[in-house]
Amino acid sequence: MALMLTTSDVAVLVARMNIRRTLDLLSRYIQDDFVRWESFEKIARLASHSPVGVIELMPASDADRYSFKFVNGHPSNPSHGLPTVMAFGALAEVSTGRPLLLSELTLTTALRTAATSVVAARVLARKEAHAMALIGNGAQSEFQALAFHHLLGIDTLRIYDIDHEASHKLKQNLAGVQGLDVQLARSTQDAVAGVDIITTVTADKTNALVLTPDMVQPGVHVNAVGGDCPGKTELHADILSGATTFVEFEPQSRIEGEIQQMPSTYAVIPLWEVLTGRRPGRRSDAEITIFDSVGFALEDFSALRFLWDQARALQIGREFELVPQAGNPKDLFGAMRHLSAGTMTTAGMEKAVPACPHEA
Ligand code: NAD
Repeated sequence: MALMLTTSDVAVLVARMNIRRTLDLLSRYIQDDFVRWESFEKIARLASHSPVGVIELMPASDADRYSFKFVNGHPSNPSHGLPTVMAFGALAEVSTGRPLLLSELTLTTALRTAATSVVAARVLARKEAHAMALIGNGAQSEFQALAFHHLLGIDTLRIYDIDHEASHKLKQNLAGVQGLDVQLARSTQDAVAGVDIITTVTADKTNALVLTPDMVQPGVHVNAVGGDCPGKTELHADILSGATTFVEFEPQSRIEGEIQQMPSTYAVIPLWEVLTGRRPGRRSDAEITIFDSVGFALEDFSALRFLWDQARALQIGREFELVPQAGNPKDLFGAMRHLSAGTMTTAGMEKAVPACPHEA
């Protein structure tokens, strides 16, 4: 049997663990897998583009487990009553190919993206960082805010969105969080003044200039999350020229990240090399660091591994028959007859009632 986790199941799991523990443990799964980087089979995601969005398949595997995620990105979806980003995915065992888990990954993507941002910021932001600007206050924003507050000690959040209702929603959702001062800013310029970290998590299918060089002071860490597709970026290229940029999987980031704007000679540092101690993270208090986040399949592998472990420990979810279970594995036809509860004979199947109008 495979385990199925719906969005409600994942919401219950987060409620039972609490959001702080969830983000903390998830960030450790992600960190552990980045440190094991060389034991993974990795590939840039397969993207199918349309004028309004993208649908992507994201596989990753090690010697024991294989995972994939299906995810979309349609910035105009909220005007149709749908989230910009929706996802689901599966975890399977490599030794047999048997699927173990089929799960929602919409909530989970928001959790894993925020947890990954913190894994990067721990080695890239200044140690005393306490104030963050959060530009783009949509579906991902609460998760970013809570991850940086609970795991990195951010106590001041300056928020801005071109949609003022989104900012009010974010402020209201964070109202009960102790020790977090959430301030509404009048503009991006106003939001970023004097902060230690700038998180951009906007959605717009264009080369946007959410941040310009005058907004990024020495010593700032930029957590650039929203630019994640060809032709969809958030930072002015001159910010990249004056900064040190860290990426997840360089072949994918060159196509999808902020660095798509830069020549192929522009040097970047893979995050895993910093996490394993091979390369330094931040080198001085004045350095501008950028985490050019696009979302890599390894993070979803970690998230599915996390869900698989925690859901079974907390007995959340439902077992279901995704592939045939019992009987002679070579008798798939017999299994079909058995699963139809004996209502079908071979002769009966051949005489079955026409199912499609054109067959009538
Ligand atoms: P969303 O549509 O719910 O929210 C995006 C918000 O950005 C909206 O409220 C919109 O008004 C605002 N916005 C657009 N342009 C802006 C601008 N110039 N200045 C300020 N605000 C602006 O989308 P979401 O689910 O929160 O996702 C946000 C972005 O993050 C998307 O582009 C998505 O593709 C990306 N994303 C990246 C990762 C990753 O791993 N890097 C993971 C998930 C989502």
